[in-house]
Amino acid sequence: MDLKNKALFATQSLIGGTWSDADSGATFAVTNPANGDVVAEVADCGRAEVARAVDIAYDAQKGWAAMLASERQKVLMRWHDLIIANADDLAAIITAEMGKPLAEAKGEVVYGASFIEWFAHEAPRIYGDTIPQHQADKRIVVLKQPIGVVGSITPWNFPVAMITRKVAPALAVGCSVVARPAELTPLSATALAVLAKEAGFPDGVFNVVTGADASEMGKELCENQKVRKITFTGSTRVGRILMKQCAEDITKVSLELGGNAPFLVFDDADIDAAVEGAIISKYRNAGQTCVCANRIYVQAGVYDAFAEKLAAKVSEMKVGPGTEEGVNIGPLISEPALKKVREHLEDATAKGAEILIGGTQPNLGGTFFNPTVMTGATQDMLIAREETFGPVAGLFKFETEDEAVAMANDTEFGLAAYFYTRDLGRSWRVGEALEYGIVGLNTGLISTQVAPFGGVKQSGIGREGSKYGTDDFLEIKYLCMGGV
Ligand code: ADP
Repeated sequence: MDLKNKALFATQSLIGGTWSDADSGATFAVTNPANGDVVAEVADCGRAEVARAVDIAYDAQKGWAAMLASERQKVLMRWHDLIIANADDLAAIITAEMGKPLAEAKGEVVYGASFIEWFAHEAPRIYGDTIPQHQADKRIVVLKQPIGVVGSITPWNFPVAMITRKVAPALAVGCSVVARPAELTPLSATALAVLAKEAGFPDGVFNVVTGADASEMGKELCENQKVRKITFTGSTRVGRILMKQCAEDITKVSLELGGNAPFLVFDDADIDAAVEGAIISKYRNAGQTCVCANRIYVQAGVYDAFAEKLAAKVSEMKVGPGTEEGVNIGPLISEPALKKVREHLEDATAKGAEILIGGTQPNLGGTFFNPTVMTGATQDMLIAREETFGPVAGLFKFETEDEAVAMANDTEFGLAAYFYTRDLGRSWRVGEALEYGIVGLNTGLISTQVAPFGGVKQSGIGREGSKYGTDDFLEIKYLCMGGV
């Protein structure tokens, strides 16, 4: 990695404003999924270091909350500006440890920074309320106060944006944060911490603790009584563990969990637009996002045309290392990820699906996989039940609107859904009937800092981004004044 700003390459944890090794001195290796090279050895902190960071964050939070919102806003905006100024280097770090194409990595940095800008501006807009009194000598005021210390646990697929989407609203409203990044992608997080320190957050307000033992670090964050809130993005399986661990002390949780996004194409849709939307939604990040289209339902009348056009577009995509010019699809994150993709493909073809294009690995070795389109997918296949998290699109055929909606909702997940139609009545009917937190109508791209991101059913609790994004980090206090 050839960084312009060498200081961004940080391999220690930032605890209380001090760069720290693990107490044991241990490190763990971060590898490049494109070639298996070791990118860095990073401080392998554990429970004790998390506890120390929480203690420091607890003490630091009061002063941070007491600052004027406009002062917090300025620090956040400095952080934002530094991230934008270092966007190329941050993108290089993301690509090195996570694999996505550089252009996508740069897009992630800009997207990630947008949350900081958005919530910086929200900081002075945390309004309370007055309520008409119920007795003549009383007055009722509602205050919004920061919840306290926030523990953040994030995945590897958006190593920058998943952190900023959580910590920006928390910091904006006056919480302090102990962030535990995914062990596969800690360098993006420590680079963010370098810039946060430079931006002028008081020591201890934003801490990043790196370590390989997710379970132990997670336990400390959930069980430490000084942590008042856990914000997590990752699998439903781990979300469930965290929620259970938080139950003991009634620690609040925000959970952005797995999806199994349906993508519906009706007979009356603009097919070219639907193909374009499917490409963006399915193959972005090599299919490794929780809002990636996972099940593509196409109405019988346009099924063949859609399949043909999608396969034609997919044939133009280039697979390769994220650092190579023109690459659309980088490596999958790991061997287990590749294994899951293979399993889904084998299961589907054994049950009658046909591969239209792809289905193989390119001659690059490692975890690269060719973008794939399959026809003849059915509800009994693994691809219908689980997130594939890879560049494999299964096309399901349907006849009626009711049937399509029923199949789309036939899952325990409820994060994102997409549908393409030009019929106004159908737009409303289907938009209302889909049991999802996010619905894209005639678009495959729904993520933005200005809109609420989050799921229903087993896809999560809470919303990130938008005017609703600060709610999860605020407590409501009702102040009743008597003797007026
Ligand atoms: P993904 O499939 O996206 O990796 P995971 O839910 O497995 O989803 O991981 C998301 C994040 O949660 C990662 O940072 C991972 O290290 C962390 N994690 C995994 N298991 C636990 C756990 N038991 N407690 C806390 N964090 C965990």
